Amino acid sequence: MSAVDERLNNFVEEVSRIRGVAYITVSSEGFPYMTKGADREGAEYASAIASSMLKSVEELSLLMDEGKPVWLKVYLPGDYKVQMFQYNNLSVAIKYEEYLEMVIEKLIDNLKKGITIKCPYCKRDLTFVTVKCPYCGSLNVFNEPRCWSCGADLRLKKCPYCGKLVYYDGRKPSFFTLLIYRIKKIFGLA
Ligand SMILES: [Zn+2]
Ligand SMILES: [Zn+2]
Repeated sequence: MSAVDERLNNFVEEVSRIRGVAYITVSSEGFPYMTKGADREGAEYASAIASSMLKSVEELSLLMDEGKPVWLKVYLPGDYKVQMFQYNNLSVAIKYEEYLEMVIEKLIDNLKKGITIKCPYCKRDLTFVTVKCPYCGSLNVFNEPRCWSCGADLRLKKCPYCGKLVYYDGRKPSFFTLLIYRIKKIFGLA
């Protein structure tokens, strides 16, 4: 498996694990390549049409002199959204509940920008790992220093694989940082 495939594989795996994601599918010219999620029928349909949908929107956008769009969003009844985008000649479609919009956007951002976060202790990939904010319950990507919803300080998070506290950018926290964190914890401030 190439590095690109592994990255995409990781993305698909983590996104499909999020509660409220109905499906995620990766396809090439209408042929499914990777699919995950409970809504199999929807996923099949999306992988069949994603490439041509994205191509149509791209043509339309060029005609209107707006340049190439990077994504397409479809609003569905029942507070669902389908987002489609192109990644390395592949078409990705994700159906998710509306409230997941911010975290899905951040995950796609990490994928496209080539961001890689690894746990400094167990070396597992944390690039697409999501963590619930302990204050408001909103889902955040690992490399986010603050909760997008309530603004809480989320610079230190537990690695879901080894349980150690890791800095949001993948660094080991210093002894001093850990000490402050533990003191805050004792007083209910973290
Ligand atoms: Zn929050
Ligand atoms: Zn770890």
